[in-house]
Amino acid sequence: MIRVAVAGARGRMGSVLVRSISDDEKMNLVAAFDMRDIGEHVSDNVNVSHPDDMDAVLKETSPDVFVDFTNADAAVRNVRIAADNGIKIVVGTTGFTDEQFNEMKSAIIRNKIPAVISPNFSVGVNVFWKLVEYAVRYLSDYHVEIIEMHHSLKKDAPSGTALKAAEIIREHLKSIGRKCELVYGRKGIVGERSHDEIGIHAVRAADIVGEHTTIFASAGERIEITHRAHSREAFAKGTLRAIEWVHKQTKSGIYGMDDVLGF
Ligand code: NAP
Repeated sequence: MIRVAVAGARGRMGSVLVRSISDDEKMNLVAAFDMRDIGEHVSDNVNVSHPDDMDAVLKETSPDVFVDFTNADAAVRNVRIAADNGIKIVVGTTGFTDEQFNEMKSAIIRNKIPAVISPNFSVGVNVFWKLVEYAVRYLSDYHVEIIEMHHSLKKDAPSGTALKAAEIIREHLKSIGRKCELVYGRKGIVGERSHDEIGIHAVRAADIVGEHTTIFASAGERIEITHRAHSREAFAKGTLRAIEWVHKQTKSGIYGMDDVLGF
């Protein structure tokens, strides 16, 4: 049995994950953390603990894997505590600044543990990124625009998934000697579109779980690569795969879903 701790267990993503862990016969939820519903029951024998008590609760429950679906500020602190306790880590939280991401990475590296960090655990989105990587190889002179849509309560914009798609495209363009700039939305007299830009647009509305489209357009045609998440189960399923994978991992380091899925 894999002993799992979840931070953000009362949130939209964490609560779906907690249910999925309870339904999985290979895993046991042993600790849950959140800012709300402290002391409330989450699953068999597990109540919500406050993050201030994280160090003590982790020592008491000794999880094999710590999973974080909170927010960027909280995740940096949570990951440091879990890493200092030598627990393997899975991070789904998004919206990190470079500084926050580096702080989280150094806690993982310092403690010589394996961690999977991904802005999107859905298997479909990971294939979407691969399709984008494939398409840009043949469409590097096309205009690229990325549109993402999420629910109205999402904290960060643009999504980590959209940023990763942009980064994949930018990396390829760099490899063929082209620079490109990310343009976040457009407003006012923006003038002619530069060839060297990737437009990124964030839609926030009602209860949209998550949609991403990458458009490659040239004179006379365009191709659109779209992924639509119907429910958070898609992310939870991928997170379970990441938990199992990192639990077996003996080599320390920072891994992504590419490693988990064997791409
Ligand atoms: P959410 O509904 O706001 O849930 C986050 C939960 O974490 C809230 O209950 C929050 O409490 C709690 N929290 C805040 N600080 C905490 C701390 N220090 N320790 C423990 N819990 C804490 O957000 P969500 O929609 O579930 O998303 C969570 C994160 O996952 C976001 O960054 C989102 O972008 C990301 N996400 C990633 C994937 C993926 O596949 N990688 C998929 C979906 C979402 P309060 O609200 O009271 O602060």
